[in-house]
Amino acid sequence: MNISAHIFEAYLHCPTKSWLISRGEVVENNVYAEWVREKNQDYRANGIKRLSEGLQAGEFKATPSANLNLKTASWKLASEIPANSKELESSIHAIERTPTEGRGKPAQFVPIRFVANNKLTKLDKLLVAFDTHILAEIFKRQISCGKIIHGDGFSTLKVKASVLMCEVRKVMGKISSLLTGDIPPDLILNRHCPACDYQRRCRVKAIEKDDLSLLGGMTEKERKKLNSKGILTVTQLSYTFRPRRRPKRVRDKREKYHHSLKALAIREKKMHSLWADGPEDEEKIWKEFVKLLATIDNPVLIHYGSYETTFIKTMCSRYGAPCNSKLHSIQTSEVFETSEVSREKITI
Ligand code: SF4
Repeated sequence: MNISAHIFEAYLHCPTKSWLISRGEVVENNVYAEWVREKNQDYRANGIKRLSEGLQAGEFKATPSANLNLKTASWKLASEIPANSKELESSIHAIERTPTEGRGKPAQFVPIRFVANNKLTKLDKLLVAFDTHILAEIFKRQISCGKIIHGDGFSTLKVKASVLMCEVRKVMGKISSLLTGDIPPDLILNRHCPACDYQRRCRVKAIEKDDLSLLGGMTEKERKKLNSKGILTVTQLSYTFRPRRRPKRVRDKREKYHHSLKALAIREKKMHSLWADGPEDEEKIWKEFVKLLATIDNPVLIHYGSYETTFIKTMCSRYGAPCNSKLHSIQTSEVFETSEVSREKITI
């Protein structure tokens, strides 16, 4: 099976995603994923435009064919190049060609990737190394580095592909064995899910399984440790929470985060999320919030700055407040650490 840059990238985000793409699973409409795609495409188009400015006619090839005619090439920049070698495929964002200096020396080719984000990740570097690997196979020559143009300032980072090649090959090996087998990888929700076209599908499956990955923030190590103890679901984890009195000597220290407490809150349906798609939904979710608040005795708001109290006061003045409801507010620098806090009662 061919490994495309699309599958390679998907695997780096999540093995399940690469599996679903390879099996042709139908994608669902995910507005955020679509927005990210459009943002990246716009950024790439702008980047290519900036690079091609100042080049003479014939020095820039836009959307060329796969055959770039290397021997007689006179271009300096080519964009959107379909690159296929044996079992690999990519559409390289751009290639920079530096002509030879001196007779008999081959021209240098450098693949370029455009990344809209200001902060680069290892994934971005591995992707440019993947492009470098394909180009080296197609051109049958050594290509040791690639470039990433990224961020608001269109900064350039040179990536030494040779350093990452070992890792690229390792990932390609893992993808091959995953995709040639019949067993799908374990479904684990992760940070990439909001920007993934399979988000809804995977969430439904995770809820059906009551999977531990529904608890965002739990690391792979923590999940594996719980699995080894036979705890596989959120409900099972929720029964492990034991509230304990904190010894005096550690009262000033930050309370440990308990995944089991969150699991308990989910089991007892004490977590709520309210969502507005636009300003027109603001009043609706405020009323839903007020309704929820009315079901709690002595509600307490724990917050870091003044944003939450200001927000609540503004909403009250905008849409009205329920009768006889008092919200006790605790401002603290550390949630659960109440030694140095300011308290006030917001009457709403
Ligand atoms: S939604 Fe999440 S778990 Fe599902 S394929 Fe996408 S990244 Fe993976």
